[in-house]
Amino acid sequence: LTFLGLESSCDDTAAAIVRLTDGQPEILSSVVAGQTDLHAAFGGVVPEIAARAHAEKLDLCVEEALEEAGLGLDALDGIAVTAGPGLIGGVMSGVMCAKGLAAGAGLPLVGVNHLAGHALTPRLTDGLAFPYLMLLVSGGHCQFLIAKGPEDFSRLGGTIDDAPGEAFDKAAKLMALPQPGGPSVEAEARKGDPKAFAFPRPLLDRPGCDMSFSGLKTALLRARDQVVAEHGGLPRQIRADLCAGFQQAIADVLVEKSRRALAEYLKLAPANPGFAVAGGVAANQAIRAGLETVSREMGADFVAPPLKLCTDNAAMIAWAGIERFRSGAQDGMDLTARPRWPLDRSAAPLLGSGK
Ligand code: ATP
Ligand code: FE
Repeated sequence: LTFLGLESSCDDTAAAIVRLTDGQPEILSSVVAGQTDLHAAFGGVVPEIAARAHAEKLDLCVEEALEEAGLGLDALDGIAVTAGPGLIGGVMSGVMCAKGLAAGAGLPLVGVNHLAGHALTPRLTDGLAFPYLMLLVSGGHCQFLIAKGPEDFSRLGGTIDDAPGEAFDKAAKLMALPQPGGPSVEAEARKGDPKAFAFPRPLLDRPGCDMSFSGLKTALLRARDQVVAEHGGLPRQIRADLCAGFQQAIADVLVEKSRRALAEYLKLAPANPGFAVAGGVAANQAIRAGLETVSREMGADFVAPPLKLCTDNAAMIAWAGIERFRSGAQDGMDLTARPRWPLDRSAAPLLGSGK
């Protein structure tokens, strides 16, 4: 089975081709065109600009993905596309493009939940078997899921306010560091002392897997203002210390809550317990290391996909499309773009999602 995947739900336009042969997936090509420069002046992603850029870039990305894989449309068995959740203009561009390609080439069309793309990535990269525990931690989401099938996820808990990626991005803004905030705060944190400032660890004193990150941002703002008032500016070393303390607080919360989620999941007595992390924040080395340690302590195999497959990409969408298609699912020309689309159908729609 060979699938083309399209992704355009946020600020990356992406196309990729994934092939499954004898149960072995292979990424034949993966093209990602970012838009960071387009949004830089605005301090965040501007939906209108994003939608227009997606519409312009999708065709080029598809051409490039096919060329890199050395394939024509006729070599494909289906088209997978992110149908939500995300910025609606971008998702619509992707869905329209996919419909055009599927209709033109007479191929099956499979709509994919962007979060399922992230959550199924450990199966693409490491062949992880169901059921496994998953921490999905990105720019807009933060939740623990037990993945039981390509469309069967149950949520154990998640953030009740901001997602950590969003918190990193806002922290970067406060620290006058470039966007996206995660990588720049992480680089700064490497030079700092995580114990120099005391940041709160929200909700750690409460049972369960729910998390909260909005208070951390406020704490960082207060600490910064105090430093600026005292020093008349933000000295370099103090900025590094603030970043280190902030990152450590997020890592500690994620690690401790992972311990609880793992305990919950292990009650299911899975044959080969696996704990996987995905989403952009999973690119953070300090957080990865902490999660790996807790996973080892709890006796679960830890899977963290390569950084390029943690952040938004279309290989995960092509793969999720293959998984859905294999389980008999397919969409028609009435496939719609959905701005909100919780993975766990029983989930309270207002919890665990920043978008
Ligand atoms: P979602 O998947 O929830 O819709 P998204 O697609 O915007 O959101 P991703 O592309 O998965 O999110 O991840 C982007 C986020 O990951 C950004 O907020 C970015 O700051 C964060 N991020 C990227 N690298 C790092 C890092 N090294 N450390 C911490 N955060 C990071
Ligand atoms: Fe994402």
